[in-house]
Amino acid sequence: MHGRLIHKSDILKIVDHLRKSFIVYAPFVGRGRDSFFDEVTDKNINTIAIHVANPYYPPKRFVLPHIQKLFKITTGDAPAIEPVEQDEKIAVFGMRSCDVEGVFHTDRFFLGNAFGDGYYEQLRKNLFIVNMVCTDTGSDIDEDCFCVCADAGPATKAHFDLQLMDLHDESGDFIAVAGTLAGEELLSLPFFHNASPHHVARRKAVLSEVRKHFKTATSWYSAATNFITRGKISDATWKKVGDRCLECGGCSYVCPACTCFTVTDRPTGNNTFDRVRVWDSCALSGFTRMAGGHNPRKAVHDRRNRRFFRKLGHYFIQREFTMACVGCGRCVRVCHGDIGMPSVVEILRRETAGTVSKEIL
Ligand code: SF4
Ligand code: SF4
Repeated sequence: MHGRLIHKSDILKIVDHLRKSFIVYAPFVGRGRDSFFDEVTDKNINTIAIHVANPYYPPKRFVLPHIQKLFKITTGDAPAIEPVEQDEKIAVFGMRSCDVEGVFHTDRFFLGNAFGDGYYEQLRKNLFIVNMVCTDTGSDIDEDCFCVCADAGPATKAHFDLQLMDLHDESGDFIAVAGTLAGEELLSLPFFHNASPHHVARRKAVLSEVRKHFKTATSWYSAATNFITRGKISDATWKKVGDRCLECGGCSYVCPACTCFTVTDRPTGNNTFDRVRVWDSCALSGFTRMAGGHNPRKAVHDRRNRRFFRKLGHYFIQREFTMACVGCGRCVRVCHGDIGMPSVVEILRRETAGTVSKEIL
């Protein structure tokens, strides 16, 4: 690994440098546990949070905004369609490894098949990612994080432009690694200096110490994938999960690996409209409602199971190479019914394992 060092007192120089070419977003501390990504300005730059709880509102919004204007429509005597330009260059400083993997997942969904999504592609090619590895066990990681089970963290191996990691020693240095040529160019700036094999060894030691602090370090994903793919989960088990869902859609909205959207027209004047795409959620009844009002998935459990088919089913894993969960823990934190990913995986395994064992015997 080719690493360079940067002292913590110089970290914000990276942000300053990026601001010459990008609109830069970084994490800030809000009230209580709250944290959020905001645009960096001269006024707030010194309050950027390096070690902070991961914001609920996931940075997938920089490639898939929760409301995205696609084009403008004019009706009447002079009908017209006017494209909406999306040419802003955005750099996100301090994106967590789980969210970097989340963006890689949305890349595969929107760009990985025969037909790419031009709107996504435009935003993605203008995005620069500075990944901050979670190393502060008091603030970066909480009891709901389980990226280690999803092979997404605490230090992702790729899909960032630049990765920074606090070495937590008396030197006050962070080790930096480039993931792209654009990231490599940053490493030649004067505030970076050479790392030695000692620093690379220190990086490994910090990571192995951090891994010990995850409350959930093993998961039953493989059992859930097996049972879902083979159709072994009973209706009663899905109903048990569905009965706990309040249909708020929160789990989908906060998920960095959820990709569903709907498209609608919003009036902006007497004969003008914006065609927009907005995030959607399989938890909501409107998600499967058809023209005329018929809903083939009226019962909530019939819709709730889609989330887990989609994220853990073998067919999708084969197509996208990984399951559609990066272990960020957001759905655990926001769900009123305690049916975030780890709880459901556990319910599916517990309720199904006995039945499958009997079949084998
Ligand atoms: S967050 Fe929980 S209650 Fe809300 S839609 Fe998702 S599963 Fe249902
Ligand atoms: S399913 Fe839950 S834990 Fe997994 S990536 Fe989505 S929000 Fe995070």
